[in-house]
Amino acid sequence: MKKIAIIGTGLSGLTLGRDLNSIAEVTFFEKSKGVGGRLATRRVKDFSFDHGAQFFTVKTPEFREFVNSLKKKNIVERWDARFAEFQMSKLVHTKQWESEYPHYVGSPNMNSIGKYLSKDMKINLNTKIKSIDSKSNNWVVTDDKGNTHGNFDWIVLAIPPKQVIEIIPIEFKYFNELKNIKMLGCYSLLLGFNYDIQFPFDAALVREAKISWISINSSKPSRNKNFTMVVNSTNKWADENMNMSDNEVKKYLLNETTRVLNKDFSNVKIIDLQRWRYANISKQKYLKPLIDKDNRLAVCGDWCMQGRVEFAFLSSKKVIEEIVDYL
Ligand SMILES: Cc1cc2nc3c(=O)[nH]c(=O)nc-3n(C[C@H](O)[C@H](O)[C@H](O)COP(=O)(O)OP(=O)(O)OC[C@H]3O[C@@H](n4cnc5c(N)ncnc54)[C@H](O)[C@@H]3O)c2cc1C
Repeated sequence: MKKIAIIGTGLSGLTLGRDLNSIAEVTFFEKSKGVGGRLATRRVKDFSFDHGAQFFTVKTPEFREFVNSLKKKNIVERWDARFAEFQMSKLVHTKQWESEYPHYVGSPNMNSIGKYLSKDMKINLNTKIKSIDSKSNNWVVTDDKGNTHGNFDWIVLAIPPKQVIEIIPIEFKYFNELKNIKMLGCYSLLLGFNYDIQFPFDAALVREAKISWISINSSKPSRNKNFTMVVNSTNKWADENMNMSDNEVKKYLLNETTRVLNKDFSNVKIIDLQRWRYANISKQKYLKPLIDKDNRLAVCGDWCMQGRVEFAFLSSKKVIEEIVDYL
């Protein structure tokens, strides 16, 4: 069997690994202590927050089939949220999400999806890959502790483009294309309360403010019922303030949330923050997964199509189609 290293255990890496597992020897490398990437959940004391992707929708038959298989196993559930749109602090529109155009979340948490997909896979956690080098016509990878792993016939990097650039060999055919791809940042403010707060929505899109999204996290199905909110900054504000201290960001975003919702949040019990340098990307017209068959290196992830969960999945399907004949 050919040996494949997959760097990154977000949805794109895990989808790829599961599909290739029966025809190749797959080894994962993941820099974090858990799998799932931006399909993420953080626990703080008795509170839990999906601090990455908030929900996902389904447009293509391939993804529908995949989501249906997870639904059957109770790994994803529908979130029939009361959705609202704010223009600054003015509520301008409400709508009930329902079965006609379903919105899904991982169950009981967003990171349940990664945990499920990674079962029985060979995964090296807490292992950040720092370089990829050729050795006797194969590839070896070196991690941040100086350990080398190899030899691999193929390497697939399922990570954001700026992180690819740091480690991929310069002979990669599409090296220059990667340099110009810019992902957008985002801050996620995580708020936990000892009491419930009544809002006329469970999920809200906010315009004309420095925050762009509010989820009542505890309103998602099968969640821990301690009242939690996730508030996302706009990408623009995050990119302009990426070097601000955590405390300053928390204070600023809490004030902005107060301004939009016209509520006093001074009794908040938990206030935490996630700084996403590479949160998402707008729709890419000209990109696709980058596959260098001569060098047996491939790069995929949501960013090469659109910064959405479904596209992370689809990007790895495209890699499989193209490399399967070489395995
Ligand atoms: C705040 C936020 C809100 C979002 N909301 C939505 C939403 O509502 N709906 C939606 O559809 N999408 C949303 N998204 C986007 C969605 O989360 C992504 O499209 C999707 O999860 C990306 O999956 P991926 O596998 O491409 O990448 P990732 O999930 O980023 O996976 C990459 C993995 O690679 C690892 N890694 C990186 N570099 C290295 C290295 N050198 N060595 C080892 N491991 C490495 C990372 O730790 C990570 O686990 C949101 C994202 C964010 C951040």
